[in-house]
Amino acid sequence: MSLFSKVLLVVVLAAFSVVGAYRWAGRALGPTVEVNNPERYVGRTSVLDFSVETPGGTIAGVEAVLEQGDTRISLFSLAAPREARVEQETHERIRIVQTFDLNDLPGATEGPARLIVTAVRPVLYGLRQASTSRTHSLELRFEPPRLTVLSTQHYVNHGGAEMIVYRVTPNDVESGVIVDNQIYPGFPAEGAGITGADEAMHVAFFALLHDQELDAPMQVFARDPAGNEARADFSHRTFPKVFRRRQITVGNNFIQRVVPAIAEQSDAARVLLEGIPKDDLVTQYVRINADLRQENAIYLLALAKQTQPRLLWQGSFRQLGNSQVESSFADHRTYLYNGQAIDQQVHLGFDLAATANVAILASNHGVVVHADFLGIYGNCVVIDHGMGLQSLYAHLSSIGVQVGDAVQQGQEIGRSGRTGLAGGDHLHFTTLLHGHPVTPIEWWDPHWIGDRITRKIARASAR
Ligand SMILES: [Zn+2]
Repeated sequence: MSLFSKVLLVVVLAAFSVVGAYRWAGRALGPTVEVNNPERYVGRTSVLDFSVETPGGTIAGVEAVLEQGDTRISLFSLAAPREARVEQETHERIRIVQTFDLNDLPGATEGPARLIVTAVRPVLYGLRQASTSRTHSLELRFEPPRLTVLSTQHYVNHGGAEMIVYRVTPNDVESGVIVDNQIYPGFPAEGAGITGADEAMHVAFFALLHDQELDAPMQVFARDPAGNEARADFSHRTFPKVFRRRQITVGNNFIQRVVPAIAEQSDAARVLLEGIPKDDLVTQYVRINADLRQENAIYLLALAKQTQPRLLWQGSFRQLGNSQVESSFADHRTYLYNGQAIDQQVHLGFDLAATANVAILASNHGVVVHADFLGIYGNCVVIDHGMGLQSLYAHLSSIGVQVGDAVQQGQEIGRSGRTGLAGGDHLHFTTLLHGHPVTPIEWWDPHWIGDRITRKIARASAR
């Protein structure tokens, strides 16, 4: 082969490999695009949240467009990111979070739309580009839900509960009552036994908690999956209640009996007591009385989510037979040790005196959602009565039911005792509404049940 031929061969081969590399580069994978939000529904304002990942971290461009028929609305461009937050999550990945307001981006209408995110990366030293386009189906919703309150006369005692009947449309919204900052979910009215109720009719139980102001704002609310919200006022009156103040003397014998016993059964208690000297009984006690009480309250709020969407109870609730009320709801207690105040707590239940090992009976029909040791409550049973209402029985010596058991009013669920933070044998009874303690007196009272609940159910049924 002549020199010329050899040179020609090398040139031809080189040309082929450049073309090959160029073609190969054209088939290279584009960046990985992951859309976190919106998932499906978009309101007037929404958050665009997505990430782009690419080998080496070099990105040539990112665009996010909302497409509806012939209309194209630019939501984001890496070339002009405006107020978007662009965060370098790893060397190879960026995350883009941008709140957008369709009032400022005209052209979009209610109905289906497409989100198209396109990301481009340079390949072959920038001679070519590899791109990825992700399309996401969306539904634009701008119309807020509609709310109408049906029930009248809402009388709420401080520390007590009330019921409301309302209509809400469309039927895929979450709704309920909001009292100051507390949310009480509503449920389809059919679950309250309202006959002839359509999908729009709802029932919610709500409360004015003992530590809220008498003039706390109360409204029904509804929020659709696109974030559109509606609120409506309803007529209501609140009534003050006097909460007692009491002093409780705490002695060494009591602390020595209860603190190690709770620590033995509760991992949470052991963690709280770590590092406190063995002989510092007062600090140990206060840690249990304050911090473990707080942790138990958080657990009860979570447990409330397991409520059933229908009323399981019937008639008034039953108080422990022949019991003497030892303590009433929302007592403000100051704990004294050697005459010194060491702690203050609000006692959010009723202490009903009983002798040891007395049968403890379910106050009404329901389903057991907790049957185990629970911190300051010792051996404890919680019964769900539906629509957010639950009853708690504490300090039991033994538990006779299991989680998931359906129980009838008057059925034995355990035996009285003094486990947990109990000075002597008694039943501590708490009524919980969506995990918040409310006074049980109302639920024990057939007149209150008739007036506040049964009457409203009957009226709504007659509509
Ligand atoms: Zn108690």
